[in-house]
Amino acid sequence: MSSTADALIIGGGVQGASLAFHLAERCVRVTVLEKQFVGAGATGRSSGLVRMHYGTEVDSRLAWESFEFFVNWKNLVGGECGFTRTGFIQIVKREAEAALRANVAMHQKIGIPSLIITPEEVKRLAPTFRTDDFDIAAYEPESGYAMPSDTANALMNAARNRGARLVQNCAVTEITVTGGRVTGVGTTQGSFSAPIIVNAAGAWAGQINKMVGLDLPYDTWRHDTMFVVRPEEIGAQHPMVIDFPNEMYFRPEGGLTLVGLEDGNPLGESPDSDTDHAREGFVERAIDRICRRVPAMKDGGLHSAHGGYDGITPDQHPILGAAGPDGFYLDCGHSGTGFKTAPAIGLCMAELILDGASKTVDISPFAPSRFAGGKLIKGSYENIWK
Ligand SMILES: Cc1cc2nc3c(=O)[nH]c(=O)nc-3n(C[C@H](O)[C@H](O)[C@H](O)COP(=O)(O)OP(=O)(O)OC[C@H]3O[C@@H](n4cnc5c(N)ncnc54)[C@H](O)[C@@H]3O)c2cc1C
Repeated sequence: MSSTADALIIGGGVQGASLAFHLAERCVRVTVLEKQFVGAGATGRSSGLVRMHYGTEVDSRLAWESFEFFVNWKNLVGGECGFTRTGFIQIVKREAEAALRANVAMHQKIGIPSLIITPEEVKRLAPTFRTDDFDIAAYEPESGYAMPSDTANALMNAARNRGARLVQNCAVTEITVTGGRVTGVGTTQGSFSAPIIVNAAGAWAGQINKMVGLDLPYDTWRHDTMFVVRPEEIGAQHPMVIDFPNEMYFRPEGGLTLVGLEDGNPLGESPDSDTDHAREGFVERAIDRICRRVPAMKDGGLHSAHGGYDGITPDQHPILGAAGPDGFYLDCGHSGTGFKTAPAIGLCMAELILDGASKTVDISPFAPSRFAGGKLIKGSYENIWK
């Protein structure tokens, strides 16, 4: 097979799908090359949290712009993203409560529905939660979670409806560069040519960068999650929570509760390792943590546990922009938080590629050059992944 397009996207995760959608909206002939199937990587394993609370304004702005898509999905994209509103509570350690207040003020300035609540108010929202280890929390009443595979597939279908092409079971094995410009790729299904190539290969993106001789700090990050059957006492629903004191997050899904941990996520493993099972010891640690915040969970039962791999950078923020040969772009390194921001990042990347700069949100802080320039991104909280 041999074919020509305006742009090639390597990777059919939620980021590649979102970029394909936004480029196709602007009449770019785009082809997505995916080595397995849509959502086969981090996207298919994602916990799907959709919240705006961050300690960095650019992330909150991207999440807020994306939120507009999640809640108006049918009109803006079509198909289903499975957004479910649960409300979101951010709990921090007492020493970070001043930062929490400042962040909520920043979110309110952007227009995000966010407020400070007391432990008593948390109890009213979630009567079975322990609330004696914090004095304030942040609350986003409109936030919730979405279904990552559905989201990626809906974006890809919308892109295809606008003329994009998707080639699955098609692994990119080389990138051709002529006179300092990318010209195309070699794959397990033949060659494809285009003057623009975007690396959206998630945990595999470091391998793609090497194909053009690009040496950026990039690692793989493993993250396990567990579903528990929730005891009836906790109720049919509970808010979604990020719980810094317990280094954990959790959210409901029907009668189950999904739990993930902020610590113990190994770096540097092969992203092709087994993800059907969580690593040894994870389930025991996760059960211990969820029972600390929700003691009634002790009567719950384990439903399932598995893992996934994302690409991660030293400041745990994505790499977005041009680097290496002319025509080569990066949309990768989403560092365990790149689901909720995908709709807006795809839009911003399309603006960057076609107009020279993004206008929806200024994504220049994520430029690949920040590493060499010593301009790593620092928020008002510590990095989430330990
Ligand atoms: C367990 C887990 C839970 C998470 N929970 C959340 C959350 O609650 N909220 C949130 O916002 N984020 C979350 N994240 C992060 C989020 O899921 C990721 O940041 C996001 O899915 C990354 O999307 P992506 O398209 O960049 O990568 P991926 O989804 O990994 O897609 C990359 C694709 O590239 C393909 N590929 C790789 N190499 C090649 C090649 N050579 N040729 C062709 N194709 C190739 C892969 O097959 C893969 O499909 C979580 C991540 C994990 C792992």
